[in-house]
Amino acid sequence: MPNLRFAAPKERRVALVTGGARGLGGATAVRLAEEGRDVVIADVLEKEGQERVAEIEALGQKALFVNVDATDESAVQASVKQTVDTFGRLDILVCCAGILGWEKPFEEQPVEQFDKVMKINVYGVYHFHQAAIPHMLKGGWGRCVTITSGARHGGPTQVPYCVSKGAVYSFVGSLGNAYSKDGVFVNGVEPGRALTDMVVPRFSAEHIAAPGNPLGRYSDPEEVAEVIEFLCSERNTYTTGSVWSVKGATG
Ligand code: NAD
Repeated sequence: MPNLRFAAPKERRVALVTGGARGLGGATAVRLAEEGRDVVIADVLEKEGQERVAEIEALGQKALFVNVDATDESAVQASVKQTVDTFGRLDILVCCAGILGWEKPFEEQPVEQFDKVMKINVYGVYHFHQAAIPHMLKGGWGRCVTITSGARHGGPTQVPYCVSKGAVYSFVGSLGNAYSKDGVFVNGVEPGRALTDMVVPRFSAEHIAAPGNPLGRYSDPEEVAEVIEFLCSERNTYTTGSVWSVKGATG
């Protein structure tokens, strides 16, 4: 392929995945490790987090679970410091920690619920990028990916969630343009429905077996992780400030 300026990795890369204990984050953590990265799992789910660590170590990579609440700025800073103290660097950040919040009409969504969703889905993303990017700038290379959602276009019974995902969309656009010349690319991924613990309990088994969408199924987390892995890789030489869809022709 002519004129593709791939920058082959010269050193071992280190990734931190928030929400990496399960779901899209869990699949991403394992996929990043399959491609040779050491991985830090930053999550509040100790048992599942340790299971991902064992899976990654079985692949021959190093891994560490850090129990950190994404809403706690000083704990986030400490988790990034622990990453750099342990592995000597931080090159890749993937933010998958998130919650759906209540599905109720707007007038039944108290501001406390809005606050809770925004604190995890937006402030958590903000804290992790602020803590991680200086280390990437120091190394002259970095890749960040956050999960937004088609819900950013609006959903009448998920107002806090939809607003949070709209905010993440703008965040990615802002940072994607900020650091491109420094080698730090910031992108987003927008899944359709991927079969995780956030999604499966909301639907009947019959619906999940035949959701009536163009591909006739929802995605596996691994199908989303594949796209995230590309955006985090050295093969991504020209995508920053973008949100890529993995929506199976659903818009
Ligand atoms: P999930 O519930 O399986 O995983 C979410 C992870 O985030 C869990 O491991 C959870 O412990 C962690 N987490 C939650 N709050 C946290 C906190 N305060 N601090 C640290 N970790 C925390 O859900 P998922 O489907 O894998 O979702 C991952 C991300 O993708 C979310 O941001 C979600 O909104 C987004 N998303 C998912 C879908 C989908 O179809 N699954 C679609 C669009 C967007």
